[in-house]
This record gives sequence, structure tokens and C-alpha cells, in this order.
Amino acid sequence: MRSEKEIRCNMCGKKIKQEQDIPVEDFITVKKSWGYFSKKDGTVQEFDLCEACCDALTRRFQIPAAETEQKEML
Ligand SMILES: [Zn+2]
Repeated sequence: MRSEKEIRCNMCGKKIKQEQDIPVEDFITVKKSWGYFSKKDGTVQEFDLCEACCDALTRRFQIPAAETEQKEML
């Protein structure tokens, strides 16, 4: 969840730590523009999750999320 000055995890509400407006804690952002074959055609959905909530979510997957090693650090 983004507001002018802060980013909060949509799941637990925790504030993502930032220093000088730069996040110093990793998190994920999902942005989805729903299309014609969905029930939300024309809706853009966006949310942020902290790492702990991302882990809690992926632990519920029947098929584990794919994980590969990053070749170059971004
Ligand atoms: Zn969270």
C-alpha cells in the first residue's frame, strides 16, 4: 500500500522501513491489470507484501514457487 511518504504491507499493515524515501527492507509489489477474461475487466489491482507475509503466502501454495539463483545482483 503506497501513500505519499510510506509503503505498508497490505497483509499485516507493517510499515516498510525507508531511509530518505528509499526502502531499506525488501518487499514485493504485485500490479495486475485485469482483462476481458476476468470478472474484474478494466480494474488495476496493486498491493505490496513484506517478506514475512510473502513467505506466509507462498507456504500455502500446493506447488512451490520456483526459485532460482540470481546471476547478477541488481
Ligand atoms: Zn506483512
